[in-house]
Parts: sequence; C-alpha cells; structure tokens
Amino acid sequence: MEDNMTQMTSEPSVRSATETQSGLDASRRPYIWVNGQLVPKDEAAVSVFDHGLLYGDGVFEGIRVYNGKIFKCEQHMDRLYKCCEQIFIDLESHVSREEMVEIQRKCIEANGIQNGYIRLVVTRGVGTLGLNPYQCPEPGVICIADKISLFEPEMYEQGMRVVVANRPKTPIECLDPRIKTLNYLNNILAKCEAIHLSQKMGITEPSEQLLEVIMLSTDGKVAEGSGDNIFVVKDGKVFTPPSDVGILEGITRRFVKDVLCPACDVEIEERYFELDEVLSADEVFLTGSAAEMIAVREVLEHTDLEVTKTHTISQGEGPITKKLRAKFTEIVTSDDVPED
Ligand code: PMP
Repeated sequence: MEDNMTQMTSEPSVRSATETQSGLDASRRPYIWVNGQLVPKDEAAVSVFDHGLLYGDGVFEGIRVYNGKIFKCEQHMDRLYKCCEQIFIDLESHVSREEMVEIQRKCIEANGIQNGYIRLVVTRGVGTLGLNPYQCPEPGVICIADKISLFEPEMYEQGMRVVVANRPKTPIECLDPRIKTLNYLNNILAKCEAIHLSQKMGITEPSEQLLEVIMLSTDGKVAEGSGDNIFVVKDGKVFTPPSDVGILEGITRRFVKDVLCPACDVEIEERYFELDEVLSADEVFLTGSAAEMIAVREVLEHTDLEVTKTHTISQGEGPITKKLRAKFTEIVTSDDVPED
C-alpha cells in the first residue's frame, strides 16, 4: 500500500554541529518511526482515517531501554504479536518480529538513547469511516524512543499515595484487559479520580500528588493500577492478583515473580484478594515498565471526590520492597541487561 502519511526528511547538505553519527540533525529529535520511515518529531503524523485514531483500534507496548539494551524484548514481542492476533491484526505477515526489533534499535540509535523508553504502537491502519476492520488493508506501525521520568525521584524512596478508584475495571468478557489495546479510557478515567481528588485537596508538592489508583474488578477483587500491576506484602510473603481478575500480565510483574523474588529469597504467590488485604498489608508496591517498582505508603478512599478514609500502609518504602527494588536496579544497571 502506498504510504502517503509521512515524509522523509531531506538530507542536510552541510553537517551541522548537532548532527549525529547517523547523519541526523540531533536538534530535531526525537526521530520517530511512522509506517516505514524515520522522521523528526515535528513531521511524524498519521492519517485521520487510521482506525487507531478513529476507534482506538490497535495495540501498544511500553518498553524500557537500559544500558542500550531492550529490556525483556522477547517478552514484549510475544505480548505484542499475541495481542495483535487477539484483535485479528495479522502483524506477522506485514512486519516480522525481527523487523520490529530492528525498528526499535534504529529508533534507539537515531535518538542516542542509552537509558529510556520505547513506545510501540500497532494500529488497525487506514480504512474507511465505518467500523469494519477488514477495510484497513495494512496495520500502522509507530515507534517512539525517548527519555522518560514518570514519577518524582523522591517518590521512590518515600513511597507514593494512591486512591481507590470507584470506577471498576472493564470485565474480561467486555474487553479483556490482558490485551494491551489502544482503548485506555477505563484506566484514564480511573486515574482522573486521583488527579481530580489531588486538585480538590489543593496538593501542590510534587511528591505528595495523587497520581495513581487501585482499580477493582466489578466483583470487588483487587486488580491493578491504571498503568501498573499491584503487589501486597504480608508477613514476609508477596502476593499479586492472577491475570484472570482482568489485568494486564505485566512484563515487570513477571520479572518480579520469576527473577527478583527468587533472587531475594522471597516467597511469591498469585491469588485473589480484596481491598481489606491491601489496607492491612505491611507493604504495597506497584510495577510497570514506565514506573519500574514503586512503594505505596498511603491509600485514600473517596466518594464523589470527598475523602472518606486514609490508610497508612508503611512509613516510606518497606524493607521487602526495598530489597526487591535494589535487585531490580542491580540487574538493569549491569552489563548484562536481559533482552529475553
Ligand atoms: N497494567 C496496566 C494497565 C498497564 O498499562 C501496565 C503498563 N504497560 C502494566 C500493568 C504493567 O505492565 P508492564 O510491566 O509490562 O509495563
């Protein structure tokens, strides 16, 4: 299919002081991969007829780059291609896994990223105004590699304050949260509960802000944050909800379960639990590619943006969270960052 959505940058005739090794003008970073071409940020655009835009019809990945390596690249590719299959996008026949990894490496290089974040987006592609996905012959592929800083650095030492969202998670039978689709409104509107509460309470200190929520399933089980998985520590053991509660099976969650807990000799179990077990926990922490690992020190409940209860979980980051996070940091700052 002819690509008329992006334009190639013209090669500068004179090498400027900001020119990178690859011959790209560094002042125009980040360079972004859009449907087959690497273009500077101000030229990166998609068609208004892309169903990713019109209907949130697509999937995405958020991936960390540590020491120039794509952290858990294989697992991210597994999830991306599986999610595409689940929404009937035949990505493999348009872009192979190897090509997808190559696209990411190109973006990292073009933007001089040693430590940063990759956002990979696969859209249904350009089609008609109707819903029919089969009118979109070719999926859209976008790759953004850039720097990232999600929460204030002090929050990682002190722990963050979170809000219990009143809006439940979309049930699996409606739209399975295990599929990382471009439909994030359920999560965004839950997150807005925390932000609006923060604004209403007049919180201005950055590390005190309410920026994350605990979302529950429609039958009251603890599910996850708006963009992170949740873990609870009680009597030295760690537990986290199973994926069939209706949560994203986070790559960081799996890293905690399969690598960090065994390495730190900490027992970990997947099991259902309700909010009372969060509120009576010794420690609570959240994980995600963007957030990495962050402790929760306080949980607020609200009704219509009026705080009804405030629960202190721990004074700052608890000892087990600290130990696991130290291991996490050790691995991702080593010369041997895992790409498997
Ligand atoms: N849950 C949700 C809803 C998320 O958006 C994310 C971030 N992608 C996570 C959990 C954590 O997943 P991961 O560790 O793969 O980033």
